[in-house]
Amino acid sequence: ATPTALMVGTGRGAQLGILIKGPEVLESTRRVDTIVLDKTGTVTTGEMTVHDVVVAEGESVDDVRRLAAALESASEHPIGRAIAAQADPAGPLPVVEEFASREGLGVQGVVEGHAVVVGRPSLLADWAQHLPPSLVAAVERAQSEGRTAVAVGWDGRARGVIVVGDTVKPTSAQAVAALRGLGLTPILLTGDNEAAARHVAHEVGIETVVADVLPADKVAEVQRLQAAGKVVAMVGDGVNDAAALAQADLGLSMGTGTDVAIEAGDLTLVRGDLLVAVDAIRLSRRTLGTIK
Ligand code: ADP
Ligand code: MG
Repeated sequence: ATPTALMVGTGRGAQLGILIKGPEVLESTRRVDTIVLDKTGTVTTGEMTVHDVVVAEGESVDDVRRLAAALESASEHPIGRAIAAQADPAGPLPVVEEFASREGLGVQGVVEGHAVVVGRPSLLADWAQHLPPSLVAAVERAQSEGRTAVAVGWDGRARGVIVVGDTVKPTSAQAVAALRGLGLTPILLTGDNEAAARHVAHEVGIETVVADVLPADKVAEVQRLQAAGKVVAMVGDGVNDAAALAQADLGLSMGTGTDVAIEAGDLTLVRGDLLVAVDAIRLSRRTLGTIK
């Protein structure tokens, strides 16, 4: 394509709600044949709500909620925001000391003198806080319903499970069908559990799911596809997607996502709508004269 055509394409993109980093970006999309979609916040709304709180024998629901909410109030993760929001509005949340976030795993800190961990059930196992059978059952039940189970523990003991979930964005299924129509193979990539991921994949018509992926491994998954000869577009919104967005042949960031992701992408979908990803691919092909 001529530089003029690329400039026109860039201008047209802005009208469609697509911010393009530079005209050369459109050039790189020509041969894209695979599109990797992050789940939470990309295919789904990322607006998590708490569905259930299950506690181990002898533990208090209020304590689990309060300590988890206090810890998560320092987190920017959608799961953290949901757990913080369900705190009892009656009292102020306890102060958190030594807060630390472990990307793709969960959060930790000291609350009311307790060393608290909230996150993936496997994260608690790292801390040798094994879930009792009643909590394992709660985790399995939640996951079979397509939800995410977050484990809560303190002082060396698993205390409860908070079940969270969000919903698929209204345009995601239509967008996936349109991406297929353009000849792209969609892949759902997520740090969330396999069952929840399969649920969402089924809802939007994606067959290939790569779940339980740690943030550092998202980029490895993109590299693996590239090594197999695929030309990969990646759509994501989170801090944990940034490296994969940068590695992809075409990185599309959700405008509703984190700054780090937006910086890492080649283009930004301003409204955070997957249908605009379809527009972006069409636009680049049209600009490059590969479709009319
Ligand atoms: P995704 O790829 O779907 O955006 P992430 O990599 O951000 O997911 O998170 C993967 C998993 O790590 C979550 O499903 C959750 O179990 C756990 N996790 C991450 N951050 C938190 C948090 N702040 N609180 C609790 N759990 C968390
Ligand atoms: Mg995400």
